[in-house]
Amino acid sequence: MPIRILPDEVVARIAAGEVVERPASVVKELVENAIDAGASEIRVECLEGGKRLIRVTDNGSGIRSDEVALAFAHHATSKLRSADDLAEIRTLGFRGEALASIAAVAQVTCLTRHVEENLGTLVRLEQGHVVSESRVGRAPGTTMTVEHLFAAVPARLKFLKTTQTERGHIDALLTRYALAYPHIRFALLHEGKLVFQSSGNGNLRDVLVAVYGAEMAANMVPVEGEHDAMRVWGFAALPSLDHANRSKITLFVNGRPVQDAKLGYAVIQAYHTLLMTGRYPIAVIMVQLPPSEVDVNVHPAKAEVRFRDPDAVFSLVQRAVRKALLDHLQPTPIHLSTSSRIPQPPEERIESAEQRTAAPASPAQALPTAQQPPLRGSEAWEQVGIPKQTQRPPEPTHDALRLPGVRAEVNALPALRVLGQLAQTYILAEGPEGLYLIDQHAAHERILWERLLAQRELGAVESQALLDPVVVTLPMESAALLEENAPMLRDLGFEVEPFGNNTFLVRSVPAIMIQDDISAAVREIVADLESNEPVLRRELEARVLRRVCKRMAIKAGRVLSFAEMQALVRDLEACESPRTCPHGRPTMIHLGLTQLEKAFGRLG
Ligand code: ADP
Ligand code: MG
Repeated sequence: MPIRILPDEVVARIAAGEVVERPASVVKELVENAIDAGASEIRVECLEGGKRLIRVTDNGSGIRSDEVALAFAHHATSKLRSADDLAEIRTLGFRGEALASIAAVAQVTCLTRHVEENLGTLVRLEQGHVVSESRVGRAPGTTMTVEHLFAAVPARLKFLKTTQTERGHIDALLTRYALAYPHIRFALLHEGKLVFQSSGNGNLRDVLVAVYGAEMAANMVPVEGEHDAMRVWGFAALPSLDHANRSKITLFVNGRPVQDAKLGYAVIQAYHTLLMTGRYPIAVIMVQLPPSEVDVNVHPAKAEVRFRDPDAVFSLVQRAVRKALLDHLQPTPIHLSTSSRIPQPPEERIESAEQRTAAPASPAQALPTAQQPPLRGSEAWEQVGIPKQTQRPPEPTHDALRLPGVRAEVNALPALRVLGQLAQTYILAEGPEGLYLIDQHAAHERILWERLLAQRELGAVESQALLDPVVVTLPMESAALLEENAPMLRDLGFEVEPFGNNTFLVRSVPAIMIQDDISAAVREIVADLESNEPVLRRELEARVLRRVCKRMAIKAGRVLSFAEMQALVRDLEACESPRTCPHGRPTMIHLGLTQLEKAFGRLG
């Protein structure tokens, strides 16, 4: 093909692709424009996760009627005059690209009135071109309506995720801006329903409550620090409130939400030794520094920034967060590594041996086990729920220990005789083929798992009503997730009722959980449901049940009576897949007699 200059429309679409990736990117650009316009109130309305409609209304300066059409032209901005200004950017926008890009990939209507004018302007654009313009009445401010995003760009449309996912992105984005701008009153509506609101009273603590709920906000401590012309402030959650990934570390640089791995790492570093590995902090951190110290012109979506002196920023953030945490934690020294292994008093045991043996045979036991058993529900589950290699017994650890030449029975356990407990963690048992070291927690997880699966296969997990419903308040994003999954949770024994304002009443729980800390359990379960990709319902159910098993299984470090150990081993023997826990880890290690003989030099 010969070289050609691309037509304007194609150029516009390419440029739009850099700025507008999904509905949340449109919300971001429109909200930033409203903030730049000096608004004290910003209202965002969405239909179908913003795919059908996004409307942002502000009470800012408005746009002069003779400039409205111009605002939608490429590289049209009122925020930058010359290249020199680029070094001193104090507004969120400066590229003059957002409105043009949005108009290139959606239908846009702009209703605006400048503060110094008496009448407003209504402009409608299609494919980037003004198709109608009229004068109308309106209070000063601007309303931008963006409809049918990507309807004319099938390639993009294909990449949009479910309404729920796109909603989640918008929720996360708007709550972030609310945190960064406590003086602005934000409201967010989905399908006409108010889902989030901040007061705009300037108090960051109040916004924290609106975003995370009162319970979580109460566990966040203020962060403050200063160095030269740099300032850091915000809130960091106490280590007891951790999260499964780094998505709850929210960072702003000069009022701009940024994704900066290094800054995020500074926050994580501040929690060093305070959090378990694999757990991440929750924090909202603002950094303010002279515009000349930071380059915001790195990425079209402006999500990345470049610091002139990154190490200085990093260390200020780390020190400020660390100090906030230590100041707060000082009075009670923490012994995280030991506390979880302190043996529980014996009277706190989960189930007595009698209860256990008196329990009716689980349906799993009643199922046929003849030579060619049909694929059972639970096996099918595990194919979804557990990584492939775990569908067979956990070979890596105990294959090495198993007798060479003896064919491994696929799953069944021989009858075992309990010998005793080791380190309050392992049950020692003897079988015809040697010694078995059984991990009491993993084994109990397996037993509970098969029991719950059997119940689920017959309908729903056995549920028990709580005497007093437990009230749980969640961060907004989690609340939406919980509400959406409530029907699924009902099949798993949880009856959860929305109570408004991101609060829920937990009325019933799986019967085995009746003694558990329900609020903590619900929070963990919601975190387990979080996912960036669509997940099969079965996998979601499996996640929840695995969590229930993990919470309810006896812990390592617990002293067990002989009867309890016997009951546990009997229950394990009755399992379909006794050799792995529901997470795919081994429940036991087998030390074969031949291997012992070898080790003792009895075999040639
Ligand atoms: P930028 O924000 O980078 O300047 P935009 O394309 O987002 O570019 O907006 C173009 C111009 O339109 C802005 O510079 C501003 O003058 C005007 N504008 C856009 N949205 C608003 C608004 N909500 N209130 C007042 N003016 C606005
Ligand atoms: Mg802008």
